[in-house]
Amino acid sequence: MILPRRTRLRFAPSPTGPLHPGGVRTALYNYLFAKQQGGDFILRIEDTDQNRLVPGAEQFILDSLAWCGISFDEGPHIEGGKYAPYRQSERKHLYHEFAQKLIENGAAYHAFDTPEDLDQMRETLKDSPNQQYNALTRGAMKNAFTLPQDEVEKRLKNGENYVIRFKMPENELVHFNDLIRGKVSVNTNTLDDKVLFKADGMPTYHLANVVDDYLMQITHVVRGEEWLPSAPLHQLLYTAFGWLDVMPQFAHLPLLLKPNGNGKLSKRDGDQLGLPFYAIKWTNPDDQTTTLGYQETGYLPEAYINFLALLGWNDGTTQEFFDMETLIKSFEVARIHKSGARYDFDKLKFFNEHYLHHADPKKLADLVLKNPDMSEKMADFDQVYLEKVCDLVKERLSFTTDFWAKASYFFEAPTEYDAQVVAKKWKEPIPKIMTDLAHELEKLEDFTPENIQKTFETACAQHATTPNAAMQCLRLAISGQAGGAALFDMAGTIGKPQIINRLLEAVRVL
Ligand code: GLU
Repeated sequence: MILPRRTRLRFAPSPTGPLHPGGVRTALYNYLFAKQQGGDFILRIEDTDQNRLVPGAEQFILDSLAWCGISFDEGPHIEGGKYAPYRQSERKHLYHEFAQKLIENGAAYHAFDTPEDLDQMRETLKDSPNQQYNALTRGAMKNAFTLPQDEVEKRLKNGENYVIRFKMPENELVHFNDLIRGKVSVNTNTLDDKVLFKADGMPTYHLANVVDDYLMQITHVVRGEEWLPSAPLHQLLYTAFGWLDVMPQFAHLPLLLKPNGNGKLSKRDGDQLGLPFYAIKWTNPDDQTTTLGYQETGYLPEAYINFLALLGWNDGTTQEFFDMETLIKSFEVARIHKSGARYDFDKLKFFNEHYLHHADPKKLADLVLKNPDMSEKMADFDQVYLEKVCDLVKERLSFTTDFWAKASYFFEAPTEYDAQVVAKKWKEPIPKIMTDLAHELEKLEDFTPENIQKTFETACAQHATTPNAAMQCLRLAISGQAGGAALFDMAGTIGKPQIINRLLEAVRVL
């Protein structure tokens, strides 16, 4: 009896630059699936291409995903782990032995071609339909098929540069199943003898990736569509190693497309709209220039996650709002779309507004205070007051960074008044109403929104004015603005002494 294996998924980024939204989505889908199955989610850093490493990129991956609320069970940043180490550069010693195994069973071979030899090959084949290093061409190159056995051994002994290539079979159909695309078939004549092990002693992505997925007992590989062409080779590697029965199931995710749907999404699409592209702030290690991310520009991770989850997936209903917990419950790989998903920046804003409007005031207050500028401005106010303000203004925010523009009047008296409202509405008997109101409010013992409203209505009636006609001027006097949070709640929150001062000040100034 074969026991069902524990579900294990991995996110396997190469730290070659700041993590893109596509990478975050890949991590998210892997995470959702792993958690739904009660399985493990692993971070594996694929850093075998040492020339392309970018300092800070690995930390950026960790920080971006942590901000998104995507966590791992195993990874280079987590103590211990049954399958450690989780950075391929630290597993370097493992791979040669596996490449050697492939040589022994005839699935791979040594090749000694110099860069010049390879250039020459390309030149010779430039008009030929087959330009690849494969069954048709390997016979003309410097490798274990063309050099005598003792020559190969001599070269290896002398420490000459060599690579190990996969021996791609000629004219065979490789069939594999993709959880999103169904059956995929590829003829091996379209594939080449990929390098598995490089002259620098490092494995290439293909070898390290397959060996590690096997050793780490990965059951499902969910990754970007750009890896679909590599899947036949990976399947052939599993076959050659004799691991086909434990080969992970593959799912290749659709591309993220530009906002207009034409072509692949790139950072420039964000730049052109003046919008962020990365989850968090990225500092370019070359020139220390920084690019702000969603975190610093006032987006909530809940909104970003909801947005990303729906880029290429839905639950089959019209439901749009999913928090992480709901996503874990509802996610289904089979419902991932085959076609590319348009990265709609407006939709992201829409989700951000939704989550801000429903935000817990306490959480919002904490976020506001994280900004040093804000915490300085709010130093004289207590947390309870700030939370009340958050509750009153949250419905007016698109980004947390809008907070001051929408709420400054809760913390300081207006110094300017909306000129249009002044011109149109601030005329007799408004100043009289405001003066009377100030005096009447003075007498109020219970400064509640209801009592303020009643007092206001009485003051209006005494000057034969409807409350509606005077309402915006009351707001103007208190906040300087034409619109804002619910008027009487706002007045009640700001408090009696401030409100009275502001009414009298407006009468004096306007
Ligand atoms: N290192 C590869 C990447 O950066 C991983 C691809 C895979 O998941 O197999 O995308």
